[in-house]
Amino acid sequence: MHPAPRTLTPGSLEQQPVTALKGVGEALAARLAVLGVHQVQDLLFVLPSRYEDRTRVVPIGTLQAGARVVVEGEVQLTEVVYRRRRQMLCRIADGSGFLTLRFFYFTGAQQQGLARGTRIRCFGEARRGPLGMEMVHPEYRRVFDAPAGPMEDRLTPIYPTTEGVQQGRLRALVGQALRELGTAGVHEWLPPEILQTLDLPSLREALEYVHRPPVDAELEELEAGAHPTQRRLAFEELLTHHLVLRLIRQQVQTDPAWPLTDPRRLAEAFVAALPFALTDAQRRAFDEVDADLRLDRPMVRLVQGDVGCGKTVVAAAAAARAVGSGRQAALMAPTELLADQHFRNLDGWFRPLGVTVGLLTGSQPARTRRSALEAAASGELQVVVGTHALFQEGVAFRDLALVIVDEQHRFGVQQRMQLADKGRSEGRHPHQLIMTATPIPRTLAMTAYADLDVSVIDQLPPGRTPVRTVVAPETRRDEIVQRIAAAVGAGRQAYWVCPLIEESEELRYQAAEETAQVLAEALPEVRVGLVHGRMPPKKKDEAMLAFKAGTIQLLVATTVIEVGVDVPNATVMVIENAERMGLAQLHQLRGRIGRGSHESTCVLLYRHPLGQLSRARLNAIRDSTDGFEIAQRDLELRGPGELLGTRQTGLAKMRVADLSRDSGLLPRVHQAAELMLARYPDRIAPLAARWIGADERYGRVG
Ligand code: ADP
Ligand code: MG
Repeated sequence: MHPAPRTLTPGSLEQQPVTALKGVGEALAARLAVLGVHQVQDLLFVLPSRYEDRTRVVPIGTLQAGARVVVEGEVQLTEVVYRRRRQMLCRIADGSGFLTLRFFYFTGAQQQGLARGTRIRCFGEARRGPLGMEMVHPEYRRVFDAPAGPMEDRLTPIYPTTEGVQQGRLRALVGQALRELGTAGVHEWLPPEILQTLDLPSLREALEYVHRPPVDAELEELEAGAHPTQRRLAFEELLTHHLVLRLIRQQVQTDPAWPLTDPRRLAEAFVAALPFALTDAQRRAFDEVDADLRLDRPMVRLVQGDVGCGKTVVAAAAAARAVGSGRQAALMAPTELLADQHFRNLDGWFRPLGVTVGLLTGSQPARTRRSALEAAASGELQVVVGTHALFQEGVAFRDLALVIVDEQHRFGVQQRMQLADKGRSEGRHPHQLIMTATPIPRTLAMTAYADLDVSVIDQLPPGRTPVRTVVAPETRRDEIVQRIAAAVGAGRQAYWVCPLIEESEELRYQAAEETAQVLAEALPEVRVGLVHGRMPPKKKDEAMLAFKAGTIQLLVATTVIEVGVDVPNATVMVIENAERMGLAQLHQLRGRIGRGSHESTCVLLYRHPLGQLSRARLNAIRDSTDGFEIAQRDLELRGPGELLGTRQTGLAKMRVADLSRDSGLLPRVHQAAELMLARYPDRIAPLAARWIGADERYGRVG
């Protein structure tokens, strides 16, 4: 039954296409490829998402609704009945009780096979039905001998959605791969120095365990991903992602760049002309940027700082360095509105200094766009602000020396690379400055942003009054509406952020429209406006600009206002269903107020009942206005989450590891990475092939 033991060298699994396995032809191989499975080894890294216990037969009399178990019994009666639809019912009994099996799809042969007196063993989910306990479409087989053959001796793995590859098929293939693993072993790319300090099982042990856990395994621990074998796999995966990012960084740093020395001292002139002095934190961040810009290799630096800390000014000073060195800078923003806002700010600052700033977005009239394109290509524009339209085809620069990307989590590593590639001229690469308001604790930043240097602006400009945050039940809505009336009466403005609870975008915007209507009726003297994600960008921008100009006094919005908009006169923000939002997002939203000299209030409305965890999360927001502290609390309070999603970090998808759950491993990941880079750089490529694969790429290194 088992293939004759072959002597294969470890690692042969890595170069053995799945078609080498019995029963895998071209068609199945193509479907496996969709799952990222190309080599036999890849099967071992498709990891179960949960397990079922099929190791013992459960007496029918003890069945609980919801249990997924194996039972064995003798058929008492099989009949086809019509209850709304045609179906086959089969009653089995084992002496402790009886159970109905219900089939909606069945063949005549199946019916015959389940004749009275036949013994069967089946697996399925027990539920309460009209005739007592039942199972719908259980897996079953007939048993002919008195002791009914051996049971599974391991827990049964259930693999994540397998698109076109049946669960049983995949399980069998993984089984084959595991047998190969048993004979050939698997290549251990981690050197003994690392393994010894790790105090975790070997890769082979880990793989065998997670695919076939023993009967006494702790299911809860396994399903939470907290078992040492899973941590062993997570470690290798995190290490691989980290190493690949480090390689990208090394590679970028071997590219030549224009040193931006700014002989005209334009950056100094820019800072001197500002109506305010830079904060110490801004100054420090700029010094770090500046030191990088002077070098003849590209800077790749992330500037992290809470909303409102003044990242734009730092970016603009860097742009001044580029222009003062006779070259161009580009700033890419995630939305049209933000691009427009940046354009206005930069133009306002730079025009008096004789620097030309232009805007390039997708929604511009063709003529405007064409002339902006020409001016960017000729170098007539020294600074170009835009949306992702900036890196589309047909956009050219004369000599782009600095690329600034705002709100990095909206763009992936790849998009950033694309824009940088666009700036390549005469073999030189542009410097990259990335700004993000999503604070990430340090160890995580080291992993998720390993391809970047990081500067932190940890201070707000002076004269800001901290936002007061109130947590209130929805039942106090009327009172809160009155509070808005009072603020508007005093000349201020307000945001009302609508709930996220609706599943579809469509329903969400309907809810927003309804809220706007209700508020307009309740506050007849207030001018109410609406923005939501479904509006055409132009309409959205119109509403935002009207709010900025004060024509709209109360802006009802979905979370589209999350990033960047600056309206200092807005002093009240109400957030509905705050308990359903991520802490990072709440913090971002709240950052829209408290930008002027008037005291601001943020009201977090929640819907009953509020669980303990939700309460703790809302309190964390109420009690702190420091983004880094909130990020840390977020990490402690929740498991895997939005904060560290791939969206924010630009990391490729992971199979086992979870940045928040496994954050305890990170210090050792970083140490191990140093060792690998220094002594085993040639092992990074096979690790990347194993964990990241050919499908998912990071920028220029695959
Ligand atoms: P963010 O870091 O969220 O992008 P911005 O760059 O939009 O913040 O700055 C927020 C506001 O603070 C802007 O109106 C900006 O002009 C102002 N600002 C920036 N730096 C300072 C400073 N040092 N002193 C006073 N105001 C500042
Ligand atoms: Mg900003």
